[in-house]
Amino acid sequence: MKKRTMKAAVLHGKRDLRIEEVPIPDIAPNEVLVEMKIAGISGIEPQIYEGGYIARDNIIAGFQAAGIVKEIGNDVEDVAAGMRVGFDPNLHCGHCYYCKRGRTLHCENLQGYGVHRNGTFAEYFAVPESNIYRLPDNLPFDYAPFIEHTSCVLHSVEESRVEIGDTVTILGAGLVGNLFIQLIKNRGASKIIAVDISEKKLQKAKEQGADYCILSQGNNAANKIIEISGGRGVDVIIDTAGVPCALENIIEAAAKGARVNIFATYPLESEIKLNPFKILEREILIQGTYCNPLTFGKALEMIASGRINLRALISYEVTLDNIEQGIIKKRDDDIFYVLVRND
Ligand SMILES: [Zn+2]
Repeated sequence: MKKRTMKAAVLHGKRDLRIEEVPIPDIAPNEVLVEMKIAGISGIEPQIYEGGYIARDNIIAGFQAAGIVKEIGNDVEDVAAGMRVGFDPNLHCGHCYYCKRGRTLHCENLQGYGVHRNGTFAEYFAVPESNIYRLPDNLPFDYAPFIEHTSCVLHSVEESRVEIGDTVTILGAGLVGNLFIQLIKNRGASKIIAVDISEKKLQKAKEQGADYCILSQGNNAANKIIEISGGRGVDVIIDTAGVPCALENIIEAAAKGARVNIFATYPLESEIKLNPFKILEREILIQGTYCNPLTFGKALEMIASGRINLRALISYEVTLDNIEQGIIKKRDDDIFYVLVRND
């Protein structure tokens, strides 16, 4: 490749994002160089942009993307130049306590793109072959950035043991809430109840398959959920909202044996009040899940199957040049996912 510099969106600090010409990354023998075709702006980028989620200084932002392989390292075996690929943006070390027990998402040396190492809001990015996934021909580039989110949602659905016939409440009906609704519908839940403070988001949830939508005002949600479930409460509660008082309230609607999954990224100082006797008496399981322990391939297959409607979740598009506008726009009520095009 003759050109050795590329355009990239470099985050120098809080609200200081600059489009710059930087060197194209060198690849290690086990890595491939990917030309970015499409990237996505998720909920975390506005948080990093505003300084609410800590990333390394002077970092190229972004972690959800897909593209075409341009160069391969000497030790790369199964990936070739010209392949359409997506990639798992979490790199685990393979030698720490957790990696050696197969719990790679708890890796003590986990490296995330756009947080610890340079990300995908650039014309090119380097990825180890082990994290590359070939995209099937029938999977459009536009849907590939969703694979990472879907892989994390899939992990949460599995850990929450959503079963056929379960009644499930999803707290928060943004991008992730809507992915949950679709995956849980596919899993065979009998009733899905979406809760949000935004009518626009609830409208989307309804279109995506929620059976009931509750506009949350104060602490009204738990009572309404109990009423909908015939007084019993719900089998599974998924929290994608990240609002402590909303979580406190919604746990009141947990049925006996319910699983409560905390998926939202809460501010570090957040606290909630719990009644331990109710947790004991109802045998409620409260669990957090994040990241994607080797569920990327499953998520890719799920998306390629066409069973999830992603088109409806793409709300806005930008190019690398106006990416800052996209990050700011992502916070709007009616914006679910923002695509970044490089073509
Ligand atoms: Zn490790």
